[in-house]
This record gives sequence, structure tokens and C-alpha cells, in this order.
Amino acid sequence: MDKISVVVPCYREEDALPHFWNALKKVMTEEFKDVEFEVLFVDDGSSDGTLGILKKLAEEDSRVRYISFSRNFGKESAMYAGLENSTGDYVVVMDADMQDPPELLSEMYRTVKHDGYDCAATRRVNRIGEPKIRSFCARLFYKLMRKITKIDIVDGARDYRLMSRQMVDAIISVGEYNRFSKGIFSWVGFNTKWLEYENVKRVDGETKWSFWKLLLYSFEGIVAFSTVPLAISSIIGIILCLVSFAAIVFVVIRQLIWHNSAYGWASMVSIILMLSGIQLFSIGILGQYLAKTYLEVKRRPLYIIKDSNIIRREHNEEN
Ligand code: UDP
Ligand code: MG
Repeated sequence: MDKISVVVPCYREEDALPHFWNALKKVMTEEFKDVEFEVLFVDDGSSDGTLGILKKLAEEDSRVRYISFSRNFGKESAMYAGLENSTGDYVVVMDADMQDPPELLSEMYRTVKHDGYDCAATRRVNRIGEPKIRSFCARLFYKLMRKITKIDIVDGARDYRLMSRQMVDAIISVGEYNRFSKGIFSWVGFNTKWLEYENVKRVDGETKWSFWKLLLYSFEGIVAFSTVPLAISSIIGIILCLVSFAAIVFVVIRQLIWHNSAYGWASMVSIILMLSGIQLFSIGILGQYLAKTYLEVKRRPLYIIKDSNIIRREHNEEN
């Protein structure tokens, strides 16, 4: 019998969780007959009653497993913890707010089981209910990503996807600290089929991603998968050297012929300003990569567990 692990990152989802659990339970019993389930909730250091709800669910239903972090480590870490501790032959990652329709599950499962794919992923075809400026920036980001990285990141791709064990193990083996899952999913390869659906509004509560958080996350994606910004700053540097060389030649010739070198003081100041701006900008880019390398080298764990009803796999092997 196949086993599916459902990984659910939750951060302050006490309002949405009951809806989510009911919907998932319905799909699990109605649409899957010969399949065993394990539902792995990862509480990402929520300050509300999320953990309490998870504990209650675990008491009621033996399929429920939970992991609770010592603080908020972010959705990336929560997903990683879920994948790492999952035991199913297939693993699906799903948000707790019902924006990832559970009704798609059976189609995703069929795609991977019978159609020869390693992964069934989903993408939203529209962004209804999202602020216009946010959609615009998101589109721009995807376009930029496609241009400057070698990996293909699909516009509107969700983290909602069902993967084979083989692919999950590949993702776990990518143990980097600065995680950008959308990139990692694509980087590990394997055959992916994209299923499309219309955007669904959050069932309760509100999004945990502020504009600022999203912006930083998109930098993360670019720095993690591309070194093009470094090349850009070098190219700008070379171009400016050429321009300033031409300017020096011009100034020398003008002095030799007309003897009025004080002329042009204002333009000189503006050029100096521009150059120092570009230098700072380039050093900033360099700093970004250095900072990421620093974090990576420290090899800190991606998450710290405070509470869980899972007996860790390593622990089992020891006994
Ligand atoms: N989430 C998390 N840690 C965080 C932020 C979010 O585990 O720091 C979870 C959240 O509980 C939800 C999922 O990630 O299940 C997606 O978050 P959200 O719905 O806020 O994002 P959006 O759907 O707007 O992209
Ligand atoms: Mg959401």
C-alpha cells in the first residue's frame, strides 16, 4: 500500500487550521481508498494557539504528526523539516490556509503514480484578490529570474506539489542554509507536470508575507541561483573606466589648447558622485554574496525543534 506524507507549514494559523483539517480529512477518506496517510504539521514558532490545536488533532487522529520549532524560522525551514521527517512514498507540501485546494490531490497522485512523472506541481493562472502592485512586482521578479539564472522558474508556481520519494531525497540532500525552494525544486531536475488552477483566497487570517519580507526573499532567490549581479557590477566598472579615460584625454587636450582647466568643475563633481555611488552599489552586491557565504560556512541547523510527537528517524536507528 502506498503512503502519502502531507507536509503543512503553519505559522499563526489557529483560525485556518480547523477548516483545513476538515477539508483534508474529507479528501483523504473520499478520494483515496488504498492509500495510507501521514499528515505532518510543522508549527513554525507560532505565538498563538496553533500548537494547542495540533496537539488536539494528534490525539484525535493517529495520522497526525507535528513538529514545533523553538522560534519562527520561516516557511523554507518549516518545509525542509517536513520533508526531512516525512516517511511516505510520496510527499506533498501544502499551505494551511486552503489556498492550495485539497481537491487537486487525487489528480496529482494519479499523475505521479501512473503517468511517469516524478512530481506534480501547481501554478496559479491568475492572482485575483492580491494587491495589483504585488502581482506586478512578482511578475517582474519571475521575468528577471528567468533571464539571469539557468533554472526555469514558472510564473505563479506554488510550493504545493506532490513528489516521489526519490525527488524528496534529492531535495533533502541540498542542505544549503539560504533556501529558495522554488529554485531548488527546479535545480534537482526530474520530470514535473504543471497543473493549473484559479487563485483561491485565504480562508481565514491574513498572509504572513509582508511586502518587505517578499522583497528580501526575492533577493535570496537571485543571490542563491545567480552570479549575474557580480558580472553586471564588473561590466559597469569597465565601461566607466573607458568613459573616464576618454574624459581625461579630452580634458588634457582642452587644457593644452585653451588653458581653461577650472571650467567644468560642476560636471566633475557630478561624475565623482556617480562613480562613488556605483562603487558603493557594487561593494553592496559583493557584500551580499559574502554574507550568504558566511552564513553558509557557519553550518547552523535550519531549525530547532522544541516539541514533537515524532520519534526522530536517527533515534530509531540507534535503538
Ligand atoms: N508560513 C510559515 N512560516 C512563516 C510564514 C508562513 O510556516 O514564517 C506558512 C503559513 O502558515 C502558510 C504558508 O506558509 O501555511 C504560506 O503562508 P501565507 O499564506 O502567509 O503566504 P501566501 O499564501 O500569501 O504566499
Ligand atoms: Mg497563503
